[in-house]
Amino acid sequence: MPLIGCIADDFTGATDLASMFVRGGARTVQTIGVPQRPLEFGEAEVLVVALKSRNLPPEEAVKQSLQALEWLQAQGCRQFYFKYCSTFDSTAEGNIGPVSDALLSALGSDFTVACPAFPENRRSVFNGYLFANDVLLNESGMQDHPLTPMGDANLMRVLQPQTRQRVGLIDYRTLRAGVEATRQRIAELRGESVGIAISDATDNDDLTVLGAACAQLPLVTAGSGLALGLAQDWKARGLLGAGSEAGKLDPGWGRQAILSGSCSRATLAQVEQAAAVYPAFRLEAGELMARGDELLAEALAWSAEQQGPVLIYASSPPEEVRRVQQQFGTQQVGERVEAALAAIARALVDEQGVGQLLVAGGETSGAVVNALDIGGLRIGPSIDPGVPWTQTLGRAGKPLALALKSGNFGSTDFMVKAWGKLA
Ligand code: ADP
Repeated sequence: MPLIGCIADDFTGATDLASMFVRGGARTVQTIGVPQRPLEFGEAEVLVVALKSRNLPPEEAVKQSLQALEWLQAQGCRQFYFKYCSTFDSTAEGNIGPVSDALLSALGSDFTVACPAFPENRRSVFNGYLFANDVLLNESGMQDHPLTPMGDANLMRVLQPQTRQRVGLIDYRTLRAGVEATRQRIAELRGESVGIAISDATDNDDLTVLGAACAQLPLVTAGSGLALGLAQDWKARGLLGAGSEAGKLDPGWGRQAILSGSCSRATLAQVEQAAAVYPAFRLEAGELMARGDELLAEALAWSAEQQGPVLIYASSPPEEVRRVQQQFGTQQVGERVEAALAAIARALVDEQGVGQLLVAGGETSGAVVNALDIGGLRIGPSIDPGVPWTQTLGRAGKPLALALKSGNFGSTDFMVKAWGKLA
């Protein structure tokens, strides 16, 4: 039986959480949406359902989260983790409050914690105020976020209008006093009819104490940091089977390929470095709009003739992206490029013996994952923070090694060093 079932409000956040559990020694499987067919997840101790619900209307986010909960319950999970961003991305309408309310009520529970903190990544909560990169949230740049501007760092004030629960605080003094004191504080808050307590955390020790104090709660809500505290508690109680082997995947097999549809600054630098090392084919977006199928066939014929890793990329610098977008329409180009890279991924895997695939770009990764008809991902070793190798589940044939990198993640040598991290 899994020890916990997690519901993440976006894909990269789900992967981040899954990697944290692996780091803590728990075998972890991530699904893409709520699985529509049975999934063999073996001895996984943690299941993470990746939704894309952060910016949906609240009722839709609630509906999808409850579907995820139901699936996780059917897999035997008894404790649940609602994962959101460490900058508490939300509006006065939601979705952190409404989803927490709905999960609490579906679980028949009256209390949970809210802890976005992840001090190692410079997200700390002190007296209920969230600091990002060492400044108050509303001075961190998040006040200008296009979808979820965060104009107040006081999380009790941010959360209260979103939820039916009374919001309270577990402060750093309580956490410093240890697990028993924190449990007592939880009991006290419950006595005061508080339903969600923001929790401070300014270092990993705070997360460790909170993890142990939350062991009996049916629901926790947090960023990815609390995963470390929970995993530590399981380890102390001898509940984890694999320990340091938790992220072990089957050895890589087959040809290696890199597909890039991300135009972010980090990816452009990574593509430049990879193109200097591997045979590379540029899918120029304008050309793709003009003679897409022909260009696709050329790319595949080219890759069939190469030895070793290949790089196929649409990534272009901002001025070129703008030019093509102006000519053909932003959405049209985006969709065409995504569809092309997805079709290439399928052909590389089904016809050209590719068994290790690295994909750059969040939306691009989504398109590739759909095209490859993947039910889930076993999470393996991290290449860089937030980007692990994974192994596909629920696909006909041999499992693939897959790494999905969203735009700005990874060091400049990411595409070159990645293969060495896959034993
Ligand atoms: P990131 O994670 O960097 O945001 P995404 O894959 O999520 O990357 O988004 C990049 C978007 O840009 C995709 O829709 C992709 O199809 C599109 N795209 C890729 N290359 C080009 C290009 N040369 N011109 C215009 N759009 C492009």
